[in-house]
Amino acid sequence: MNTYNPLDDSALAELKQIVGEKYVWTDRDKLEPYSHDEVTGEKYVHYPEAVVLPANATEVAEILKLANRRLVPVVPRGAGSGYACASVAYQGGIVLSTERMNQVLEIDEVNMVMVVEPGVRTADVHKIALEKGYLYPGEPSSSDSSFIGGNVATNAGGLKAVKYGTTRQHVLGLEIVTPEGEVVSLGGKLKKDSTGYGLTQLMIGSEGTLGVVTKVLLKMVPRSKHVVDLLAVFPSAESAINIVAKVMQSPIHPLCVEFMDNKGIRCAEAFLNEKLPHSDKGYYVILSIDGNNEEVLDDQCVFIDELCTENGALEVLVADPVKIWKARKSFGEANRARSLIFSAEDTVVPMSCIPDVVQKFAELGAKYGVNIHIAAHAADGNVHADILKEDMPMDQWLEILPQLQDELYAFIYSLGGKLSGEHGIGYKRLALMKKYCNPVELKMMKAIKLALDPNRIMNPGKIFSLD
Ligand SMILES: Cc1cc2nc3c(=O)[nH]c(=O)nc-3n(C[C@H](O)[C@H](O)[C@H](O)COP(=O)(O)OP(=O)(O)OC[C@H]3O[C@@H](n4cnc5c(N)ncnc54)[C@H](O)[C@@H]3O)c2cc1C
Repeated sequence: MNTYNPLDDSALAELKQIVGEKYVWTDRDKLEPYSHDEVTGEKYVHYPEAVVLPANATEVAEILKLANRRLVPVVPRGAGSGYACASVAYQGGIVLSTERMNQVLEIDEVNMVMVVEPGVRTADVHKIALEKGYLYPGEPSSSDSSFIGGNVATNAGGLKAVKYGTTRQHVLGLEIVTPEGEVVSLGGKLKKDSTGYGLTQLMIGSEGTLGVVTKVLLKMVPRSKHVVDLLAVFPSAESAINIVAKVMQSPIHPLCVEFMDNKGIRCAEAFLNEKLPHSDKGYYVILSIDGNNEEVLDDQCVFIDELCTENGALEVLVADPVKIWKARKSFGEANRARSLIFSAEDTVVPMSCIPDVVQKFAELGAKYGVNIHIAAHAADGNVHADILKEDMPMDQWLEILPQLQDELYAFIYSLGGKLSGEHGIGYKRLALMKKYCNPVELKMMKAIKLALDPNRIMNPGKIFSLD
């Protein structure tokens, strides 16, 4: 492991000079919220030595120069809503919070670009775009809490990725502070760019290991006049999941195609204390379609209704959007309320393999004696499965979980899938990354990391270990 220096009094004094005394925190109470993300379990908690809150790129650059001089790790942090322990300072040092960098800098309606600082909340970007008659399609279920900088650093996906892709597809340019403290603008308000390496794309999904994002140029799209949310309820996981490919092969291009299994539905129902349709035995496929012509949308609804009914749906309803999305978005919280400790898996496979993955989870749950709840961004091939510890003794849980994951990911990779569709690798999936990532691919990643961050100060021990 790389050896770092502690943040001594003189380093803290220097940090206070850079950002102001008020924005360097070392009190344990104030550090607590920054000692973990959304992953629960004592082994994932680690306090930083300080939380530092810069106001702009110049201050970020000064902090990174100091960290290089003094060999101190720096962990960038957005809202801390991650599911991979990627924003936790396991090797000590500074958590660099982007909370104060929360301004919308420009709305360019002609080019349909919004320029924001990294600490702007994703839901605020949606709101501002809608007010101007546009849509910002990046919509992780955590939008009410997550920051745009965190979405960029994890290449967040979410509910509208079926039609519009993940954060990668919504970012035209970035301002980055490099690990050595230089400020650089990458990309721009450009529809095309073949000017050398695609560094903007390299930064997206790099989980804070290659620099700090200090400005983001987001692409907006024209907003459709109408959106309809349909809820198709099926009697089995198989019948529900099988409809997904059929919808995607049809002439309809849906905005969202989400799947929830019956255990997940019941858990959400109990958590929200709200009756959900057919919760006794139903499996949900939630489909949203959008457009500007109501008649065309009506025809599409009829088409989907008929398709689902022919394929065994118990009922197809026009859903109450508030209620259905509240249920879908409560998936993680509802599972946590049932079992404080759970493992959130974020498997991704070719869409055609989703039925195999859902079936595999059922087999693994039965084999290892655990409840596994599933919610999937189904048409993306992205299956979220929360494995619940519930009242299983801790030593047994710690023994079975790696075995279960090993069996799971051997299967996922045999299907051409990968470890993470949108949550990232962080610290939580380090061992799995080492085992399952192609060694040449891993070597390339390490070479890039060392070229850009020779002193290894940026978010060390995330994605892969350099030791
Ligand atoms: C209920 C719930 C639902 C979720 N649903 C989804 C979903 O649908 N889709 C999805 O993709 N994810 C989802 N997530 C996971 C999480 O919300 C996303 O990964 C989100 O993008 C993290 O944003 P954040 O601001 O909280 O980042 P953090 O958790 O603070 O950080 C995440 C990573 O980004 C890095 N980082 C943060 N800001 C910067 C910056 N300015 N510069 C460089 N690096 C930075 C951190 O170092 C870390 O590596 C969900 C989480 C929860 C709790």
